[in-house]
Amino acid sequence: MENIRNIIIIGSGPAGLTAALYAARAELQPLVIAGLQPGGQLTTTSEVENFPGFPEGIQGPDLMENMTKQVKRFGTEIVMDNAVSVDFSARPLVVRTGTEEYRSRAVIIATGAEANWLGLANEQRLRGKGVSACATCDGFFFKGKDIAVIGGGDSAMEEALFLTKFGNSVTVIHRRAEFKASKIMLKRAQEHPKITFVTNVTVVEVLGEATVTGVRVRHNDTGVEEDLAVQGYFAAIGHTPSTKIFADTGLSMNEKGYIEPQEFTQTNIPGVFVAGDVHDHRYRQAITAAGEGCKAALDAEKYLAVDEL
Ligand code: NDP
Repeated sequence: MENIRNIIIIGSGPAGLTAALYAARAELQPLVIAGLQPGGQLTTTSEVENFPGFPEGIQGPDLMENMTKQVKRFGTEIVMDNAVSVDFSARPLVVRTGTEEYRSRAVIIATGAEANWLGLANEQRLRGKGVSACATCDGFFFKGKDIAVIGGGDSAMEEALFLTKFGNSVTVIHRRAEFKASKIMLKRAQEHPKITFVTNVTVVEVLGEATVTGVRVRHNDTGVEEDLAVQGYFAAIGHTPSTKIFADTGLSMNEKGYIEPQEFTQTNIPGVFVAGDVHDHRYRQAITAAGEGCKAALDAEKYLAVDEL
């Protein structure tokens, strides 16, 4: 007989694994399609100090390993593969990996988002060693340091303003002279005594061997290169939600590809729910993603109670 699942969860960050925890404890035997590099964005951070319950902090990968152990304890099945396509017009819903086709009465999308990077040679090498894309996560580690924030949108202004709490100075580095940021955010940053602006420059490289020691920029008008001495480098040039595989499914998304839920965590497609950064471009925290995973599982459980399949 065909194996029709109750819930498939796509994604294995805090949103996906919390959804799995709640679904498993409701005896729905969830299947998590975890991806080839499970654990989501936290696996690329080091110390996490803002997840409640860990007074001394916890390493991001350890937190995700704990969550994985916890969901397995209640019978969650985890597949270490990427979902490559879905068919949400079919009933049951279909989720495919490279090798398997799974059918399910409900699907929770928790595929997350990725910070955009400039693509410089040293950017990834120095991740966690002065390079970051999340001031809320890592700002605390930059007490008394000089920090560069790259970008000219609201994120860059927000990150810069937040980092003034910790840093000795914050330099906003932007490729143009005009800003995408809203007037109010820009003004707030411009008027802050700790923030200076370097505009109309291209960031050429992040400098440093073991940790960040500076940023090399090229002035677009003159072509002259300049090294700015900083110990922190924050990319704030936007995020990209992981929604490519949902492109032609009729799932409601905004112009940037973030999924738009309709009511609570329910999307416009019955039986398809969403949790975490794949729709939330505002808070983007592990704890908010986990909270949404819980909500999506509870919503899916209610849906399944009346679903007639
Ligand atoms: P945005 O797309 O608004 O801005 C991205 C910025 O990064 C732009 O200044 C852009 O430059 C720059 N940039 C992009 N790619 C590169 C690159 N390769 N090299 C150098 N610079 C680059 O993204 P945000 O994340 O700032 O904001 C996303 C959305 O979230 C917006 O709608 C924003 O208003 C909202 N938001 C609201 C907040 C609030 O209200 N508190 C806080 C944060 C975000 P260029 O200008 O030249 O294109």
